[in-house]
Amino acid sequence: MQIKKKIIITEKEKQRIKFLLQKIIEEKKEKFSISDFDTLYGFLNKREVNSLKKLLKINPFEYGFKGEYLGIQEVPKDLVEIEGQRFKADNEEGFQEIGIRYLPQSAYKAYKRINDRMFKEIGRRVLVTSGYRSPAYQLFLFAYYLDMYDFDIQKTIERVAVPGYSEHSVADYVAIDFITEEGVPQDKDERLFEGTEEYKWLLENAKKYGFGESYPLNNKLGVMYEPWHWRYVGD
Ligand SMILES: [Zn+2]
Repeated sequence: MQIKKKIIITEKEKQRIKFLLQKIIEEKKEKFSISDFDTLYGFLNKREVNSLKKLLKINPFEYGFKGEYLGIQEVPKDLVEIEGQRFKADNEEGFQEIGIRYLPQSAYKAYKRINDRMFKEIGRRVLVTSGYRSPAYQLFLFAYYLDMYDFDIQKTIERVAVPGYSEHSVADYVAIDFITEEGVPQDKDERLFEGTEEYKWLLENAKKYGFGESYPLNNKLGVMYEPWHWRYVGD
């Protein structure tokens, strides 16, 4: 029988990861969220690359994750850029703009369709706060949250997927995180999304338009409740 050991991140590696995150944040350029591994590793020296690569070996099933291994897939070539999205905010401008987000062609079309329908029926729309993200970006994101949660792998996995397990990095059936035009949810009160008209409408209608809720309340996948996270599942 094979004995699997959980990964141990040494103090030295923790320091290195903290440092390399800063480096990436300072040097990253446009389109970083859809970049490949060569681009990500290109910011770093060999030791840093190795520390980051070690995180790819984390097996989320050992931490209570019961979802699916989706694989490290190539970055799709048909990504559509979504620009100029803005939601209401309590600042001088009265709104906040979302940076460029990406969706593969098929998911983008489905998103348009469902949004038009929702607007016709209840006069509301949802915006894409997170769409497609590459596996390399997911690795950066995982490291970022890992650092934020003091290298508690368990806690991190409940919040953000290890590369290969994220529905945001799937070419064909990608997940979208929605935000309302009123700016719900925000990081601090994420659960508020469940009280919105938009969410209510999605619960009743999303299926007809090819979307499914991935992480409902008390889901059995070992992932926290994410009412804003919907996966394009096709017709
Ligand atoms: Zn999501």
